[in-house]
Amino acid sequence: MKQTGQIIRSYGRRFIVESGERTYDCTSRGKRVDYVCGDHVDITVLNDEQAVIEGSHDRHSLLYRQDDWRTKLIAANVSRIFFVTATVPSPSEELLNRCLLAAEAADIEPVIVVNKSDLPETAGWLDKLQPYQQLGYQLVTISAKQGAEALRPLLQGHTSVLVGQSGMGKSTITNALLPEAAARVGEISEALDAGRHTTTHAALYHLNADSHLIDSPGLQEFGLSHIGATELAGLFPEMRDYLGHCRFHNCTHRQEPDCAIKQAGQEGRIRPLRLELLQKLVTQAINAK
Ligand code: GDP
Ligand code: ZN
Repeated sequence: MKQTGQIIRSYGRRFIVESGERTYDCTSRGKRVDYVCGDHVDITVLNDEQAVIEGSHDRHSLLYRQDDWRTKLIAANVSRIFFVTATVPSPSEELLNRCLLAAEAADIEPVIVVNKSDLPETAGWLDKLQPYQQLGYQLVTISAKQGAEALRPLLQGHTSVLVGQSGMGKSTITNALLPEAAARVGEISEALDAGRHTTTHAALYHLNADSHLIDSPGLQEFGLSHIGATELAGLFPEMRDYLGHCRFHNCTHRQEPDCAIKQAGQEGRIRPLRLELLQKLVTQAINAK
């Protein structure tokens, strides 16, 4: 029997697909394994528990992560990225920037979630994050230990993903938002994946009929290597006005004379941290060719 469904969990070559009221343990037809959590798929049902994935539907968006120099897929069809950060453990501003760029590249709206607001050091981190609000990024402050209700309106109507360094509170937030579903999917994963850590794979949970949450593994690096050198500057909102104003149309914004972006940097209209990240990523993108 053929039907459609959505991948709610993946384990290498095996996938949990939800279709109607049921979930199926699936393999894919042929050698194709590039399916990912959030993908809408066509399946052939074999029995009450098993099915075969025949193919996937077009994706609205796709997120990657960098893992030992390889680019891996994290999740498909995400419409909002929540970057969870806190003062403990030590937060990485570069990781935040990479997340914002990955979101821009995928045309997904990012939201910065500052968790652990109960910790007094949070005030200093919020000051450092102010420039990102000035760039137009939404920021919300919560203490997941006390509850994550402030996030709910931002999740409504979206397929969201929580990302960030491990230890920032992603699991705590997920559990606060959906304790029952979290427990249920935990059971599925234990049965399938006995002995392995349940948090090493992405999982999709339903908040309600229109709102879904994909919980992803602890990210160290965002996969940006799929982005071309010439695309990068356009992913920085504060640089867009200067694009096309450099002397050379193929300016890489590094060594060239009369670079409008470097000029804006010198005049304090682009922060050094962001300009240096652009230049570093452009260099990496060129060297990777
Ligand atoms: P994850 O690795 O991002 O999933 O982080 P966890 O949810 O496992 O949380 C890491 C640690 O931070 C745990 O010890 C949590 O109890 C703690 N934590 C989570 N949220 C808060 C919070 O709002 N305030 C404080 N003080 N600690 C928190
Ligand atoms: Zn330039």
